[in-house]
Amino acid sequence: MSTTPAAFPGGTILGYPRIGRRRELKKAVESFWAGRTDAVDLEVTAGALRRETVRRLVDLGLNPDDGSVPAAFSYYDQVLDVVALLGAVPERFRDLLDDEDGSLELDGYFTVARGRGEDAPLEMTKWFDTNYHYLVPEISETTPVSFADHRVVREYAEAKEAGVTTRPVLVGPVTFLALSKAADEAGEGFHPLDRLDDVVAAYAELLRALAAVGVPWVQLDEPALVTDSLDVPAERLHAAIASAYRALATDLATGTDDADGERPAILVTAPFGGLHDDALALLAATDVDAIAIDLVKGATPTTPVPGLEGKTLVAGVIDGHNVWRADLTAKLDVVEPLRALGAGALAVGTSTSLLHVPHDVEDEVFGEGAGTTLDPRLRDWLAFADQKVGEVATLARALADGRDAVADALAASSAAVASRAVAAGVVVPAVRDRAAALTDADFARGPYAERAAAQAARLNLPALPTTTIGSFPQTPEIRKARAAWTRGELADADYSAAMRAEIGRVVTLQEELGLDVLVHGEPERNDMVQYFAEQLDGFAVTANGWVQSYGSRCVRPPILWGDVQRPAPITVEWSAYTASLTEKPVKGMLTGPVTILAWSFVRDDQPLGDTANQVGLALRDEIADLEAAGIGIVQVDEPALRELLPLRRADQPAYLDWSVGSFRLATSGVEAATQVHTHLCYSEFGEVIGAIDGLDADVTSVEAARSRMEIVPELADAGYSRGIGPGVYDIHSPRVPSAGEVTELLQLAVKSIDPALVWVNPDCGLKTRGYAEVEPALAHLVEAARAVRAAL
Ligand code: GLN
Ligand code: ZN
Repeated sequence: MSTTPAAFPGGTILGYPRIGRRRELKKAVESFWAGRTDAVDLEVTAGALRRETVRRLVDLGLNPDDGSVPAAFSYYDQVLDVVALLGAVPERFRDLLDDEDGSLELDGYFTVARGRGEDAPLEMTKWFDTNYHYLVPEISETTPVSFADHRVVREYAEAKEAGVTTRPVLVGPVTFLALSKAADEAGEGFHPLDRLDDVVAAYAELLRALAAVGVPWVQLDEPALVTDSLDVPAERLHAAIASAYRALATDLATGTDDADGERPAILVTAPFGGLHDDALALLAATDVDAIAIDLVKGATPTTPVPGLEGKTLVAGVIDGHNVWRADLTAKLDVVEPLRALGAGALAVGTSTSLLHVPHDVEDEVFGEGAGTTLDPRLRDWLAFADQKVGEVATLARALADGRDAVADALAASSAAVASRAVAAGVVVPAVRDRAAALTDADFARGPYAERAAAQAARLNLPALPTTTIGSFPQTPEIRKARAAWTRGELADADYSAAMRAEIGRVVTLQEELGLDVLVHGEPERNDMVQYFAEQLDGFAVTANGWVQSYGSRCVRPPILWGDVQRPAPITVEWSAYTASLTEKPVKGMLTGPVTILAWSFVRDDQPLGDTANQVGLALRDEIADLEAAGIGIVQVDEPALRELLPLRRADQPAYLDWSVGSFRLATSGVEAATQVHTHLCYSEFGEVIGAIDGLDADVTSVEAARSRMEIVPELADAGYSRGIGPGVYDIHSPRVPSAGEVTELLQLAVKSIDPALVWVNPDCGLKTRGYAEVEPALAHLVEAARAVRAAL
């Protein structure tokens, strides 16, 4: 039984942004990739950033001496870091491993992340329910697994030298393997978890090395324990947890090397939701020393848990995944009763790593004005990473010394939250009244057969109509014009004229290519969500609110803080201008409510479904105006529909209900003759296949080129019977498909579904491609459509 004293009495956080307040790491990494700097330069910049981070965390109130400060740095991704730790790279990258110790140099590390020539990088996928993406390890019976990389040990020593005793943070062994996929060479029935003993043995070596240099605490993240969407049954996961932590916690003597210890004290965390039933008991029954649970997304346990007596329970009450300032009094009301669980000690923490929020509210500009100047009231309502560290420290003091010790801070936080709840703009009575008056009829269109007939008569399209997904290449000229306009160096009228000229070029090109349904090319959009957020009431866009999306890529999610409405038309002028240039039907393009929510920080003071409906109503107004301007086809993109799917199956039906509802609310106000399209960026529908049908769009376009139209028969089997545009051109690569290839794909499609339903389009928008590829690819697409059409 462990006898570790109470851990983190001053509070702790599970991780911190690592990209740098001014994206220093991004810049350093990209300059290394470009060959402008070398590995030593990169390490120097990263080392400075790490030291700055730990000092900052101490300044903000974390204890410098007891392992409360996490060391959670990564050059690219924390899952890739474990691959590097173990030397567990796929076969195609084995040559990158050091002959002696099996480790990866920085160069090789980035090669695994980004690929080289024919060697594809590790696949990337979403990290639980965040917008962060990790690299998926590929593991087989023969993947090398050892304690290969000592970076974690070096970085501990580096911080120690700077005066801070850090707590190394790693993805836990079970979650690492649960998120891995079987490598190509793996035998039938192999699962990466089959390698658990090897991986745990390597972690044990790492723990010994950490104990040897005096590390007091290590953090192992096991969020696999909060989801049931992985392909591993819960029983198997739980058995793996029991076995892994028996080996790491029970079988290794606790304490540092000086005290004959073989391992640091172990904190296991389970961010991103409530633990599986029994998982808290499971963790409590191991000999780990502390357990962190997510009390923002997960339910608060109320009954004593055997085994907790010797452990610290870290109560994750400060939301690591959203940007709102907490009501600290309300948080204490959650934390204090946890004493009844019988843990040896109670500490305050964040629900997740702070990786998912920006650095510091104080990096923003507040005042009157548009653009990224924020409404001054937001300063009081927001908490980014640095503010959250302060919140944790305040709560920890209240827990230790009583509420009176921090009475002012508690009162200020409660007052800020209360002021937000009733502030003008947060609550807009007209918006509330409109939502309250909605009836089922507002969410439904007439029968599809009638719509299809009316649309056919109006649009007069050939069989297998050709179109694109909306954006055309964002050329350097477009970007330059927007940058100049944003800086105020290009007048509104000149910017508008430049965009119109671009639209003219895109229309002419589409006519020359012979496409049937034209788009305006979206030159005026900086981003498919931010563009709309900038023009809707209730949203703010930040100047420096960067969050890592993957690798060196960062995004600045808009902040949805108030009731949403549309003060003025957004896209109508551009679409109407486009229509004035051509006789062909023009498709207007909008981003859907679910995607707008998914890629923003959303308000936490009302159900997400209510917020989605407000966005749905704003889009409904936009669609009505497009319709009134004579636009006969409107596409509402929902690439994030699957992304926002809750991690627990039990929560999924309710989600699909409101998400599909908000889309239908946006799109159901139109006449039968107006055709509604939707675009989804993927075609592995899984759980959402029923929802795709539920959207009730007249035409659905999906990615399908790489999977060779697999989705078309699947959709037909699932009862989908409206228009379908399976992508025939993979826009993720610069490769130009031949007309023959596209023809083959189309033939596959018309074989498995009624050809009258099939549309011909690329997989996705063309904004990241260049004209040199796009022109011939679209020419081949049109040629193939004509050939298959002729043979029908
Ligand atoms: N209409 C958008 C475009 O073409 C869709 C982008 C997306 O699906 N991610 O760029
Ligand atoms: Zn797409």
